[in-house]
This record gives sequence, C-alpha cells and structure tokens, in this order.
Amino acid sequence: MNGDEMERMKAIVAQISAELTGRCGSPGAAEVHLVVYGVGMDEAGAAALFAEASQGTPVEGVRLVVRRGAQQYICWSCCGLRFEADDGVCPNCGEEAIRLPDTVTFGIREIRCP
Ligand SMILES: [Zn+2]
Repeated sequence: MNGDEMERMKAIVAQISAELTGRCGSPGAAEVHLVVYGVGMDEAGAAALFAEASQGTPVEGVRLVVRRGAQQYICWSCCGLRFEADDGVCPNCGEEAIRLPDTVTFGIREIRCP
C-alpha cells in the first residue's frame, strides 16, 4: 500500500459519500460494490484501504463488496476507447490495443441504498 492508493481510495469514498447522502436516507446501511484494478492489491487489501479511508465519513460502516477487475486496455487505432479484456483486441476496430500500466486503481460498480 502506498500514499497514491490511499489518495485514490479517498477520492472514491468522497464520490460514494456524495451519492449516498444525495440518494439514500440512511447511508450507513447501504451496500457498495467496488472494483479493484491493477497488480499488487487484492480484494482484502482494497477492503482494508476502504475501511481506513471511510473512517469518520458517511460511508463508514456500509456493506462493502469488492471484486477484481479485468486487465484494462486503451486503443489508439480508433477513438482512444478504454476497455477491459483478456486478449487486448479492441471491440470497436479489432486492432491490438495498448495494455494500461499496472497501477492500482478503484472503480465504483454499484451503490445500493438500504
Ligand atoms: Zn479501436
């Protein structure tokens, strides 16, 4: 774990906080689904980071579900499409796409109000 990962997770927590307080009545009972990308962090690591980043925020205590995301690619042959795949072939133009760096990033997949 490094500082960048914590910063990214804090940004995710802030985004979820805004969603929850705007949409859900009691955010503490909500269910949040996250996706973790990159090498060097698994689901448990992401969950621990989330717990630390969410302390003292409206997100603290939500039910968290983490899954690992597929490898991400970006295609510069067509329109800079960013996509997940195992083979790295652009679904738009069929050209070989560029594998994105293996830095750890997080994504929000779903936020369920209680
Ligand atoms: Zn393409």
